Amino acid sequence: MIKYNKPPDASENDATAAAPADAEATSAKNFANLKKKVLQDHERLGLDSTFHFGCHPGVPCFNDCCSDVNIFLTPYDVIRVKNRLKITSAEFLSKYTVMPMHEKQKYPVIMLKMTEDEHKRCHFVDPEKGCTVYQDRPWACRMFPVGKASPEEGSSDEPFYFLMNEDVCHGWDETSEWTVRQWMDDQNVARWDEEGEKYKAITLHPYLRENDLTPEQMEMFYMVCFDSERFRRFVFESSLLQRIALDDKTVRKMRTSDAVLLDFGYKWLRFSLFREPVLQVKR
Ligand code: SF4
Ligand code: SF4
Repeated sequence: MIKYNKPPDASENDATAAAPADAEATSAKNFANLKKKVLQDHERLGLDSTFHFGCHPGVPCFNDCCSDVNIFLTPYDVIRVKNRLKITSAEFLSKYTVMPMHEKQKYPVIMLKMTEDEHKRCHFVDPEKGCTVYQDRPWACRMFPVGKASPEEGSSDEPFYFLMNEDVCHGWDETSEWTVRQWMDDQNVARWDEEGEKYKAITLHPYLRENDLTPEQMEMFYMVCFDSERFRRFVFESSLLQRIALDDKTVRKMRTSDAVLLDFGYKWLRFSLFREPVLQVKR
């Protein structure tokens, strides 16, 4: 079965989420509240839990879920969509994303920008054809109506899945039965999940629980995670590679692969912001 699209609501963990874009939900603070609510209120599902759902162009709500919705993006989401569009990260970020900020925010997050007309649509939805970046759509869009919650580090709670039962969505009237695992396989989530776990290891890092980043560190975090071309210039046009020991093969790959560059970026954040000895300084 093919799911052509995805809709709104709830949250994942620290990283990716699709949530209704009402005024209440648009701040990072309310995202945190949403997350807390998910952890408290939703039935917790495992990979073999079942649900009934279907999404196809014949549903009366086709595309409704791609308007007026908060889609939080992971770094890998940005890489996939901007490369599909063949534009730079800077262009993608300025045209297609917004950055909600809150005074207690621990790190920068970004969301897909909606159009500014009365429809408030995702820029990538075609009213007739659905999602125009379907093969590279973000994690949250793939997962809907399944959400994934990762409780804070240190909590005794285990990660779990939950269902987002939005009123707008008629997919719940369909009879196809899925396990969570089957749904995720069908939506080809694995690669996004693997990359999401790496990002989560950064955003749930104990350092961020106990420390605030300075504005300069926030900027570094943003550049590493979301602005890959600028980070690449930072790596290759500064003295960084003269100071940090890296093997030639990795350096070569970092020139052309955004994903390999991002892997190095996560190490760089751990090393430079969180003071972890994950990189070696040249003597
Ligand atoms: S990226 Fe695609 S699936 Fe996600 S909200 Fe936009 S149009 Fe919908
Ligand atoms: S069935 Fe749900 S997921 Fe599918 S188009 Fe309608 S609102 Fe979106």
